[in-house]
Amino acid sequence: MASSSSRSGAGAGNEESPAMRRLRRLSLHLLQPFDRPAEQLALAACAGARRVEGGAEVSAALAAYLRGRHRATQARVFEFFRDRPDLQTPVEQTTAAHRDLCFRQLRSLVRDAGVRPLSLMAADPAEYFAVMEAAGGVDISLGVKFGVQYSLWGGSILNLGTKKHRDKFFDGIDNLDIPGCFAMTELHHGSNVQALQTTAAFDPVTDEFIINTPNDGAIKWWIGNAAVHGKYATVFARLILPLQGKGGTPADMGIHAFIVPIRDLETHAVLPGIEINDCGHKIGLNGVDNGALRFRSVRIPRDNLLNRFGDVSRDGKYTSSLPTINKRFAATLGELVGGRVGIAYSSVGVLKVAVTIATRYALLRQQFGPPKQPEISVLDYQSHQHKLMPMLASSYAFHFATIYLVDKYSEMKKTNDEDVMADVHVLSSGLKAYITSYTAKSISICRESCGGHGYAAVNRFGALRNDHDIFQTFEGDNTVLLQQVAGDLLKQYQEKFKGGTLSVTWNYLRDSMSTYLSQPNPVTARWEGEDHLRDPNFQLDAFRYRTSRLLHSVAARLQKHSKTLGGFGAWNRCLNHLLTLAESHIESVILAKFIESVKSCPDEKTRKLLKLVCDLYALDRIWKDIGTYRNVDYVAPNKAKVCGCHSHTATSHKGAELDSDSSFSLQAIHKLTDYLSYQVRLVARELVDAFDLPDLIIRAPIGMQSEAYAQYTQHVGF
Ligand SMILES: Cc1cc2nc3c(=O)[nH]c(=O)nc-3n(C[C@H](O)[C@H](O)[C@H](O)COP(=O)(O)OP(=O)(O)OC[C@H]3O[C@@H](n4cnc5c(N)ncnc54)[C@H](O)[C@@H]3O)c2cc1C
Repeated sequence: MASSSSRSGAGAGNEESPAMRRLRRLSLHLLQPFDRPAEQLALAACAGARRVEGGAEVSAALAAYLRGRHRATQARVFEFFRDRPDLQTPVEQTTAAHRDLCFRQLRSLVRDAGVRPLSLMAADPAEYFAVMEAAGGVDISLGVKFGVQYSLWGGSILNLGTKKHRDKFFDGIDNLDIPGCFAMTELHHGSNVQALQTTAAFDPVTDEFIINTPNDGAIKWWIGNAAVHGKYATVFARLILPLQGKGGTPADMGIHAFIVPIRDLETHAVLPGIEINDCGHKIGLNGVDNGALRFRSVRIPRDNLLNRFGDVSRDGKYTSSLPTINKRFAATLGELVGGRVGIAYSSVGVLKVAVTIATRYALLRQQFGPPKQPEISVLDYQSHQHKLMPMLASSYAFHFATIYLVDKYSEMKKTNDEDVMADVHVLSSGLKAYITSYTAKSISICRESCGGHGYAAVNRFGALRNDHDIFQTFEGDNTVLLQQVAGDLLKQYQEKFKGGTLSVTWNYLRDSMSTYLSQPNPVTARWEGEDHLRDPNFQLDAFRYRTSRLLHSVAARLQKHSKTLGGFGAWNRCLNHLLTLAESHIESVILAKFIESVKSCPDEKTRKLLKLVCDLYALDRIWKDIGTYRNVDYVAPNKAKVCGCHSHTATSHKGAELDSDSSFSLQAIHKLTDYLSYQVRLVARELVDAFDLPDLIIRAPIGMQSEAYAQYTQHVGF
């Protein structure tokens, strides 16, 4: 359907009526190619996509700075798939074909391109994550299949097993001889892993564990690689020791991980006692074969217990270096953070693709314009800048934050330092939750910002949205993960008042909390004008002030409510407050890393450009969360009188109404955010080009750097 605005004369003032103009343009399609006015389409394309002077150099310098240590490895992955059209994902295919293709893509990456992901993970996690992100660029299903095989199945052997397991399985997993699964989730329990019901009872007579699904609620569900390709599964189950509980009853030692063969290595037939069903067609990620598994007293050797944190001896005695079930459980789950790191990192990759397509198209697409003048690019509309430019800035912010996360993860793997471990645990939860939620929302905005052409499957937003959507849920549901961040902040808060030390990421709380708590409103008190709003110290101060105040206030509320509601009830009563706190903290970390990355950029021109993008990120975040700032007294009502600006009312995404008295700071922040969006728009093309994503990864015709319309029309058959 044609847009109603084009019929309603929104471009009034043009001599030719919109209907006539449209008719004239449509009639061009009736001409033979050689009759068409020369380069009609190409000219239209160029008008909006003009480069700023020296734009190519600007992009190149920026790309050089963004390029991670392992860009060359990623480039090799891209080249490999570029040269193998038989391995490229078509726009339409059946579930069976997609699964088959996805497996062939992974196998070829390993066997033909010679990538050894598990070796990379063991030697240099940063390179491993770079390959995983590149694979996800080729097809998100491939990235996830890759993650199931290596982060989850391989990661469980590396991190929860001991030498005997690594010796036996490492090579087979690495070269994909042994595709495997990670079977944690059950029909009745996903997030609450401690409530899993599958059992692994030790049989001292045969020296085996008996894996059993006690009821339908305990059927392992959603298990990647299970429906078609998996040969083994790491199964999470309650370890039961006979006669060792009170009065000779069986003792439940809590959740442990066991290696269970599920298909014959030669014939691929499902093994006796195991029932596998297909979870079926999903709303996305259909290259991944998710299945459900039921175990009917399946016997496995005692050695198949992944025994890094707890072991059972031949005579059935349990030993562990960790004193309690809770500590063992925390250590087991703590070792699985790599999956979350990979998801956060890959989610930024998806965001970059969506933003690149939407931005390039917004530069190319022209609708309406001043009377008797050419139409303008839709990115010249303030509303469009408002939709896309903060998103572009966020892609940059997340890029630096996830690079930092990957570096921290690598450091943790190298040092096994407990503080770094705690830091990575919370950071990976927080960044995974925050970034994947942001990306999921942004893909829909990108689709809408491309109008009707954003709805064509070939232009990718449908697949990006559907494939990425589950990133918010697997590897830990985002709402649950944010609570872990909030819980950790509260623990740190209590430590602070006990005089203890704070772990690395939260150091700012130690420095800032005392100031913020003794001085109710230091940020607004030091407010001076635009220069001040663009001062990174001010911006970081504002973010940290908000976090400190939220932490202080939620701690007081929890204390108050726990007297009447108990710990669980009080937590639930303050849940939204806790989630806001967690997001606020993660935003502080993201901004801090962005500011650091701007400062350490050696090239002055590039640094200036990044500073502009960073300012937009910071001020847009403050503006979007102005309700919370208002609630924590960040915006002082009396400031309105100083400025004399027009009064302004806004509603933040948290739903708080702002009163007109606070218009001084509000107006300044709002206006500056719009201005910065405009400034970023002027270099938008350079900014997306600097992501350095090849056409193979962008794929959408409307997101191509040149001849976008021509590629699009060709796809349809013209
Ligand atoms: C495509 C796909 C692939 C998957 N692959 C695997 C795999 O390979 N291996 C595997 O083991 N699992 C896998 N999973 C399962 C996945 O990890 C779980 O779905 C995930 O952990 C969430 O658990 P759940 O589905 O039980 O959601 P639930 O925990 O039931 O959550 C449902 C809703 O309740 C909310 N909620 C839950 N608890 C709380 C709380 N404490 N506070 C506030 N809100 C709460 C959540 O936010 C969510 O909105 C996969 C799932 C999918 C869809």
